Amino acid sequence: MIRSRMSLKKRLVCKTQEGTGDESTMCNILVSACLLGVNCRYNAVPKKNEEIVRLLDKKVIHLIPVCPEQLGGLATPRRPAERKGEQVINETGEDVTEQYFRGARETLRIAQMYHCRVALLKERSPSCGCRQIYDGTFSGTLTEGDGVTAALLRENGIEVFGESQLERLIEKISEQ
Ligand code: SF4
Repeated sequence: MIRSRMSLKKRLVCKTQEGTGDESTMCNILVSACLLGVNCRYNAVPKKNEEIVRLLDKKVIHLIPVCPEQLGGLATPRRPAERKGEQVINETGEDVTEQYFRGARETLRIAQMYHCRVALLKERSPSCGCRQIYDGTFSGTLTEGDGVTAALLRENGIEVFGESQLERLIEKISEQ
């Protein structure tokens, strides 16, 4: 749960738009679209996170929804895929690296367009996963690492949080 809801607006004096001439306190947060209930996952099974959806009501926050895999040209539903080093392979053995990296680049473009400094992403995805992803064996085994989009955002100075780190993200943007 998010602590201190009463003071959320005051706490969120976010400098996301710093340097743009916009004096507003709006904070643009890039978010995995599936966490808002958009039907974009590989298996077309929704993963809406109600706590994140409630952020849509906060006047001081703008959520910018993106699905890197769809932005890379993949359909829903699609074959599950896992990262194997610098490649992304789907469960039939097809190399889908190009689509995943294209989606990552388009996601970065949107993040920069909206001056996002932070991203709230779906954990364990080969695109959005942060710090922990499946190991490429399709055996349900997790390993340390980022999805390709999370990694590219991080490399470009955007701080990435998983959905279980929502409170940490709120604390982070409150400090800015
Ligand atoms: S690529 Fe990201 S936003 Fe799209 S379905 Fe997968 S986890 Fe959700």
